[in-house]
Amino acid sequence: MSSITVCARFRPLTSKEKLNGDADSVCIRCIDSETFVFKDDKDEELTFSFDRVFYEESKQDDVYQFLALPIVRDSVNAINGTIITYGQTGAGKTYSMEGPGILECDEQKKGLLPRVVKGLFDSLSPSDEELTFSIKLSMVEIYMEKIRDLFDLSKDNIQIKESKSRGIILHGVTEITVLDPAEALQSLSRGIANRAVGETQMNLASSRSHCVYIFTIQQEFSREKRMRSGKLILVDLAGSEKVEKTGAEGRVLEEAKTINKSLSALGNVINSLTCGLQGKTSHIPYRDSKLTRMLQDALGGTARTALLCCCSPSASNVSESLSTLRFGARAK
Ligand code: ADP
Ligand code: MG
Repeated sequence: MSSITVCARFRPLTSKEKLNGDADSVCIRCIDSETFVFKDDKDEELTFSFDRVFYEESKQDDVYQFLALPIVRDSVNAINGTIITYGQTGAGKTYSMEGPGILECDEQKKGLLPRVVKGLFDSLSPSDEELTFSIKLSMVEIYMEKIRDLFDLSKDNIQIKESKSRGIILHGVTEITVLDPAEALQSLSRGIANRAVGETQMNLASSRSHCVYIFTIQQEFSREKRMRSGKLILVDLAGSEKVEKTGAEGRVLEEAKTINKSLSALGNVINSLTCGLQGKTSHIPYRDSKLTRMLQDALGGTARTALLCCCSPSASNVSESLSTLRFGARAK
């Protein structure tokens, strides 16, 4: 069984898309929970299969249970994991990751992050008095191949280092020890707010950077004098949309090129890993981008990975949706 789970998710039409009459031209037809038919812009029908397809009516909890819970459980057993949302801007990456807001109280709408936080604490609550645990949280943003600490905006060029005992680390990054779910959510919302502040200061759009949430789970068994730790990383990627080659210039073009490069690097790493799983050994090009380098010990090897390919169901977005689905299909 592959350690990479690839799912597709179609969000509901937005009210704007409905006003545009997009409801009459939805580009997907459900076959079952794993397969659907996609109608491209030439009216050709393409069949796609994923580990699971979440259609418009799917619930946030369905996504969590299928895609994240197994990885959460493993991370508590010191197996690293990564959960990634991929797709064009507006496809539902952040909604899937956070929900309408990280502190949103409508239970049903909560995204992966608050559910992961709860899942981590639930799985850890020690029944054994000999066990102590801690959860540390870091949040960074990768923009133009620079890593910025979202808990301390003055740290705007964090370096990636490799340590024998701890694996890949972000040198000097702020790590907040969170003692309960409420504290973790407060910290997450502070990081998210900081991200918006930093972006306003620099006049950037959040859709042009990757947002990375890192949970480090440490457990200590006092009786056996043994420590173990696992890392769970969630990544809300920059929008995968192609920027018009003509017209874009200056920073917009540079941003687009950088994003394209790091998303291809991610795709290449995942593909090399899946080839490896099929018995073909190959070099894994982790060093081709900050993102893949940062994920090196949480992607591949014994680590578990889930990729959620987010798409709009609207015919007006077919070419971007198709490119997202192809990215997902290639990862299998
Ligand atoms: P992205 O992060 O990929 O740019 P968003 O997550 O911000 O996209 O989603 C774009 C819009 O669609 C938002 O208004 C969001 O609330 C809405 N949306 C996305 N996914 C869903 C969903 N599954 N159910 C309801 N609304 C959604
Ligand atoms: Mg977003």
